[in-house]
Amino acid sequence: MIPELSSPSVCMRDPQRVEEIIKAMQKAGTSTIQVISDFDMTLTRFAYNGKRCPTSHNILDNSKLISEECKAQLKDLLNTYYPIEIDSKRTAEEKLPLMVEWWTKAHTLLVQQRIRKDLLKDMVKESDAMLREGYQLFFDHLQEHSIPLLIFSAGLGDVLEEVIRQAGVFHPNVKVFSNYMDFDETGVLKAFKGELIHIYNKREGALLNTGHFQELKSRHNVLLLGDSLADLTMADGVHSMENILKIGFLNDKVEERKTSYLNAYDIVLVKDETMEVPNALLLHLT
Ligand code: C5P
Ligand code: MG
Repeated sequence: MIPELSSPSVCMRDPQRVEEIIKAMQKAGTSTIQVISDFDMTLTRFAYNGKRCPTSHNILDNSKLISEECKAQLKDLLNTYYPIEIDSKRTAEEKLPLMVEWWTKAHTLLVQQRIRKDLLKDMVKESDAMLREGYQLFFDHLQEHSIPLLIFSAGLGDVLEEVIRQAGVFHPNVKVFSNYMDFDETGVLKAFKGELIHIYNKREGALLNTGHFQELKSRHNVLLLGDSLADLTMADGVHSMENILKIGFLNDKVEERKTSYLNAYDIVLVKDETMEVPNALLLHLT
């Protein structure tokens, strides 16, 4: 049906089911669709030329706005907690308090750095941030067809917004739920706003933002993109969902995690650094 679904990076537990969902969504039409996507390692690349690409947190962590001592501490946190995040032997329940610990410790360190708001733009410019290949078509196509895109990220909202702004794709149909910085009157970071979003409370985050989903209440068909199993709850606020097509990027620890991804996501993209498959689906649906 869609040639890109036969590409070697695509794995599906039930291709027939995928076909049925696509047919149902296509029949319902563009005006019934909304896209909900994670940001880090979903809209951005996981690796480039064999080197890891930064998350929105890493963009700041690795920048010159952070002291050498703090960089080392943030790196230690990453080395401690990232392996836990992707550990397929631990349950979500076991990981949850540890992830809260990671985010809380990292944010506390960041606040101590007296980061200036006016330097964030250049910081992103100088970073290795990289959206996935084909991002332009993805964002532009959604905008052209007035399909709302919700970017739901446990990363740093101020940083990821700047990444998409500098890429020229922060169109009016894009809405972001994320962790936003709170600056004092001199423009220095003093705290983070609102409830912390970490990878395991996206469901709660979705349910807090009822207003957003209320506005989109006629859009019962969802295209969901994520890279973590926890991203699957991002659509929990959607009103009377009819169809959901879940696309999961499996970037790391492929062998250990493949079965669980295949059981959770309709389409699993294994070490695929592009937006080719989501784009092909969008072109087909619109
Ligand atoms: O946008 P997304 O929801 O994917 O952002 C969360 C990601 O940020 C996590 O997968 C985690 O690996 C990463 N992270 C980080 N540094 C932190 C906390 C989380 O790079 N301090
Ligand atoms: Mg992610």
